Amino acid sequence: MSQDKLTASIIVISETAYKDASTDKCIPALQNIFDQQGSDKWEVAQKKIVSDDVLMIQRSILEDVEAGVNLVVTSGGTGFAVKDITPEAVSPLIHKHAPGLVHGMLAASLKVTPFAVMSRPVAGVRDGTLIVTLPGSPKGASENLESIFKLLAHACQQAAGENSRQLHEGGMGKLESDAGVSAKDSLPTTASQGGHNHNHGHGHGHAGPKAHTDPESRPQSNDPNDGPTRRYRTSPYPMLSVEEALRLIDANTPVPKIVRTALNESIVGHVLAEDVQANESVPAFRASIVDGYAVIAGKEAPSTKGLFPVAMISHAQAGEHATLREGEIARITTGAPLPPGATSVVMVEDTILKTKTEDGQEEKEVEILTDAIQPGENVREVGSDVMNGDVVMRKGEGITAVGGEFGLLASVGTREVSIYKKPIVGVLSTGDEIVNHDRESQLRLGEVRDTNRPTLLTAIRGSGFEAVDLGIASDRPGALEQTLRDAMRRVDVIITSGGVSMGELDLLKPTIERSLGGIIHFGRVSMKPGKPTTFASVPFKTNAGERVDDKLIFSLPGNPASAVVTYHLFVLPSLHKTAGISPTGLPKVKVVLDQAVRMDPQRAEYHRVVVSARADGILHAASTGGQRSSRIGSFKGANALLCLPAAKGSVERGATVDALLMGKIISEV
Ligand code: AMP
Ligand code: MG
Repeated sequence: MSQDKLTASIIVISETAYKDASTDKCIPALQNIFDQQGSDKWEVAQKKIVSDDVLMIQRSILEDVEAGVNLVVTSGGTGFAVKDITPEAVSPLIHKHAPGLVHGMLAASLKVTPFAVMSRPVAGVRDGTLIVTLPGSPKGASENLESIFKLLAHACQQAAGENSRQLHEGGMGKLESDAGVSAKDSLPTTASQGGHNHNHGHGHGHAGPKAHTDPESRPQSNDPNDGPTRRYRTSPYPMLSVEEALRLIDANTPVPKIVRTALNESIVGHVLAEDVQANESVPAFRASIVDGYAVIAGKEAPSTKGLFPVAMISHAQAGEHATLREGEIARITTGAPLPPGATSVVMVEDTILKTKTEDGQEEKEVEILTDAIQPGENVREVGSDVMNGDVVMRKGEGITAVGGEFGLLASVGTREVSIYKKPIVGVLSTGDEIVNHDRESQLRLGEVRDTNRPTLLTAIRGSGFEAVDLGIASDRPGALEQTLRDAMRRVDVIITSGGVSMGELDLLKPTIERSLGGIIHFGRVSMKPGKPTTFASVPFKTNAGERVDDKLIFSLPGNPASAVVTYHLFVLPSLHKTAGISPTGLPKVKVVLDQAVRMDPQRAEYHRVVVSARADGILHAASTGGQRSSRIGSFKGANALLCLPAAKGSVERGATVDALLMGKIISEV
């Protein structure tokens, strides 16, 4: 990329071209304009083809924005056909709308065909990048681009943050001559009217205070400052299936981070990020497995039977031993090291005490009653449990609270391990009506006790993750933004509840997109409860300005049962992935229904049930009753979520259905 040229990216949005790139004619047509009319100023750095898919379009544009491209032009998807969704995909990405460019393109196209009114272009700036949507026909796209082309360099320089005063030095005349335009070839309905009172103070806008937009170019907006009359009346976010939503969560959850830590109890619940080899053998010495007498058994002295002096004693303690000589035995306790020279241990039951020392305190001679002792008998050989250098645990294996993994690592002299760092999760409730659950005074009309925060905090901790209480945020845009910014310094993942429905006070989505510069990966899921569940990532820099992993925001619905279902279904798999836990999410089992359960014809449903193991060895599920999303009581006693498909009618009693296990199975045996 040459340094002084501006960079452009061309993104063709077409299902057909996406399947077969050879059908595309837009890229060459648009490239030609950059080459022929602006090769001194422009370099086309990227050319891409994507399908008519909101997320794919957004991702490809955001890649270019991140890469610092000056101009992104898209082609296609701006019409009225059902699949035309380019403006809907691009609008939420725009921080500053540029209706003047839209107007310029439409005015130019209208001179060619009245059908230009059927185009729905958008244009504007995100970070330092200007984004312009062009129509899908090569001719239309070229005409539109040409109509504004000469002005784009100036717009992009400003958008990229170049000093506006310097750019404008020399006045409008110089600007026009630099751009190769003049008032007379300006568009009839825009710049030529009202003169050229170019306004330095505002940085852009080449005319007086006159509306430059027609209703077509004033789409409904998620800008909270626009008030309730401009809010979307249907959600602009595509409705995804649960599976698609889970895929996006997986794709946008950062890969696990590795930390080195001392082997202590704090590692319980973590997953190893490396194979661990034993530093020592277990046992580290030849040890007796019985209480008895260490003897020398073998070819030279095949018989151990007879009377022997007790030459020494070996207890289970540290210390040096003298060598056992032929004709001697040593008293030994379980776990104690065999003295050098000893081959085996005869158990005390196979012996008789014959004589004592003079003071009567010690054994002097012992008779061994058997001659069947083999070399190595009753001895745990060095490394017979674990040999020094053996791999005792593998990367990816978990150190559980119930299993013996910590003990195993401890036994082989492991002092430090590499583990995957667990994410820290913050929980925020939103809503001006929400009050702390333990507030003493009676509720005033409209007030609601915070149910979600305590429930989610305990659920997160119960899943083995650190949870931080972020309190309650009010429904004022600024307040929410500030709370989220503060939270991002403290936690890796933020769970909010409430504020994701369609009301004018539902500020999560606009705050994430507009104020925090985040990407909403999905904003609606076809499920019950939990439809408005929203998942986003937000770029984050440390105080030192270093860009670190994106912070994840799960904005769960406000109704308590919805919030808890979606925590288990969506948040948990992401936490698991970050912590290196695999497989992610809740385990799925088959259960037999104790009663018929109605399904929802449109949405997959997650019905709360109590799963118990009966004497027949089969898992049975009983409903917890009313499943309304506001009823947190549907979680009382629940240990599983029944997975019901979207279908008419009921699943009959006795039918076998999938269930996701949240807690311990109850035993009725
Ligand atoms: P919202 O999406 O913010 O409109 O919330 C939907 C419903 O959930 C409303 O009835 C809210 O009052 C309720 N709600 C939201 N947050 C909570 C919470 N933390 N605890 C209990 N109810 C809540
Ligand atoms: Mg609310």
